[in-house]
Parts: sequence; structure tokens; C-alpha cells
Amino acid sequence: MNKPASLALGPGCDQHAAPSVVGSGKGSIFIPMKANARQQPVLLGNTRRAACDGFTLIELLVVIAIIAILAAMLLPALSRAKERGRLTACTSNLRQLGLAMTMYADDAEGRFPKADFSDNLIGLPPALHTNSVRQAIQRYVASTNLFTCPTLRSQPSRLGNYPTDYNYLCVHGWAMLPFFAGFDNDLSGVCDQRVSAIRRSAEKPMVICDSLGDHVGVPGDAVSAPGSTLRGAQNTVFADGHVGFIRGTMQQIIAIYQMPNQ
Ligand SMILES: [Zn+2]
Ligand SMILES: [Zn+2]
Repeated sequence: MNKPASLALGPGCDQHAAPSVVGSGKGSIFIPMKANARQQPVLLGNTRRAACDGFTLIELLVVIAIIAILAAMLLPALSRAKERGRLTACTSNLRQLGLAMTMYADDAEGRFPKADFSDNLIGLPPALHTNSVRQAIQRYVASTNLFTCPTLRSQPSRLGNYPTDYNYLCVHGWAMLPFFAGFDNDLSGVCDQRVSAIRRSAEKPMVICDSLGDHVGVPGDAVSAPGSTLRGAQNTVFADGHVGFIRGTMQQIIAIYQMPNQ
């Protein structure tokens, strides 16, 4: 069996017990090691012993520390790589939801569907239509998996309150909420609007991933906490069908929702 190189005995390891023999042949004098203090000092004997036993405790601790540092460097990179995969899936969902909206409008004389902002079970903003966005466009999507974002589905707290993870820019009912008094669907909603009425279609959010920051490494709850100045980013398909982030604080993101269509 081959030992690892670092554990192999160095040269001289098997010599420490050998007695010294001076000269050769008939007149050889046998000198026991202990008797010759100059050739075999006690200190040299100790050094040899340490070198022959493999790792010292200090060396092991150094190796363990290096492994711990490497692991600490690699784990965040691994979790970022995992989140990049989830974000790719979320972006693909949004692109297909945008296409489904366009197909719906093509079949509805150029008008986007009437559907609630969210089909959450907490009632904010209140449901004013008979359909959630999922119910409105389910005929145009290949799979109901499109309505769940992998990043948000991995959060157990969402499961009870949010059957889906995407919201639709229906501003109907928002004015009933504190802080949103200025919301007017006729001016800035997508719900029940004619496609041609949304002039700023490349800037107008249409379907929004409910994550306010998790896709960019910021807890969404922290972004939406009252008074928070934390900047997040919301993955969004705009009314022209392209997907991108809306970035900013909660209030800045809401201001983008409210941006006039014209
Ligand atoms: Zn998402
Ligand atoms: Zn509406």
C-alpha cells in the first residue's frame, strides 16, 4: 500500500536505534550510542522523532483552518449559483405569462384581461374581479407551474397565503389602501386596458414576481418593512413583452406601478 507522500517516513527515520560502529574489520571498536554525546545529542534525537510521526497537532489545525476558510468562500458562491438558476426559471415564467397576456388580448379585441392584482388569501389589495390572473389566462399557458416562482416557493411562510407568486398590474381597489390613494387604473393600470392605450409599453410593468429582493440577495420582507430604505429588485414582464428588473426601495417600485400609461 502506498502511503501519501506527506506521511512517509523521511530518510534516517529507521536509523535512530542503530549503534555506531567506528572503523572496520579486526580492530573495530563498538561504541553504544548513549556513550557518544557529541554525535547523538539529545536534541537531535527529539527532532527526528517529531519529523517521523507525520502531522503535528499544529499542522492539522492549520489544514483544518484552511479547509474551513475555503468552504466559507465557496458556500456563498454555490448559493448564488443556485439562485441564478431559480431566477432563470422565474424569468422564463414571466416571458410566457407575457405571451399569454398578448394572446388573450388578441382574442379579446385588443384588450387585456380583467383580473385581480393578486390571488393571495390575505385580501390586500382587495379582490374586485371574479378572476385572478391565473384564472383569466390559464387557457393560454402550457402549465400551471408558470404561476410559481422557485425562489418564493422555497419560502414555507408563503405557501399558506399565496397560491401563486405573480401579480398583475390591476390598480383597481388600491386606492382603498392607506398610502395608495393616488392609484387610478384608468391612468396607470394594465387591467382591462386596450393594448393601444398603453403608450409607454416598454416601461409599464404588466406581470410582476412578488419577490421584492430575494432574486438579488435582499430579503423581500426587509424591503417592504415600513420606513425601510433598503433597495430591492422585482423581476417583471413589461407590457411590450420584455423581462427585466424594476429596482429601488418599496416606494420607488410602487411609483413605477403608478407611472401613467401615456
Ligand atoms: Zn421570481
Ligand atoms: Zn382590475
